[in-house]
Amino acid sequence: MLSYQHAYHAGNLADVHKHSLLAWMLDYLTRKDKALSYLETHAGRGLYDLTDEAAVKTGEAAKGIAIAADWFAADHPYARVLARIRTKYGANAYPGSPIVAAESLRPIDSIQLSELHPQEYAALAMHMAPYGGVFRQRDGYEMALSVCPPEPRRGLMLVDPSFEVKSDYDTIPPLLAKVHRKWGVGILVLWYPLLSDAPHLPMVRALRDTFPDGLCHEVGFPPARPGHRMVGSGLFVVNPPYGLLAETKRLSALFDAKLKQN
Ligand code: SAM
Repeated sequence: MLSYQHAYHAGNLADVHKHSLLAWMLDYLTRKDKALSYLETHAGRGLYDLTDEAAVKTGEAAKGIAIAADWFAADHPYARVLARIRTKYGANAYPGSPIVAAESLRPIDSIQLSELHPQEYAALAMHMAPYGGVFRQRDGYEMALSVCPPEPRRGLMLVDPSFEVKSDYDTIPPLLAKVHRKWGVGILVLWYPLLSDAPHLPMVRALRDTFPDGLCHEVGFPPARPGHRMVGSGLFVVNPPYGLLAETKRLSALFDAKLKQN
């Protein structure tokens, strides 16, 4: 039984980390004329209202995008997506990763998304309808194995589990290794939380062993509320695009400088 709902966490600093790098990578990849595939295994609902009871209850967006929106120059790909979403849906709208992707891609590109939770899936299908793509109410790991390699071959897959199921930490390294064997050119992007008891460490060690050229980027931040276990956010990228390392360094400097001021 799935109980995680991203509406409680949308727009927190982990989303700022993940979505700003996702927007940067897709902007970089769409500078070439060749078409792209965007795949996502754990899509969530796509679009969030930060005045919704769930978001207000945790206060995570108030400690996240509410303070971080002006960290990014107006021409940064993430700032451009945020501005377009606010123009379309209002000042309190926040894009999840599927809509960050849909707003970054072109008509020649293709999108395939999986979301298992029935209500989250229904909301995703509604929010994504204007953009098009293939959406499935299906296990994301199964989708990853069945649709890879996608057509077009050039592309990126985001794996963004809630880690509600603790076996995710063990499932992911062999899963990414299998996907990589089927889709050698695919950019595989895994998000994971940095929790106070650090359950991610064995998974990241296994990923570093399997993908010695992978890029691992982590940012730390204060817990969103007393006792909250999440103290940072991590991304592991297989086949990182050129320039991503420099962008992660810029982002680390931003997080350090801006969080010190608060
Ligand atoms: N990627 C989204 C974003 O950044 O906007 C957030 C996704 S949220 C962290 C994780 C989502 O995965 C939840 O909506 C949950 O219902 C869904 N989920 C959990 N297990 C799944 C599975 N095995 N396959 C597909 N979706 C799953």
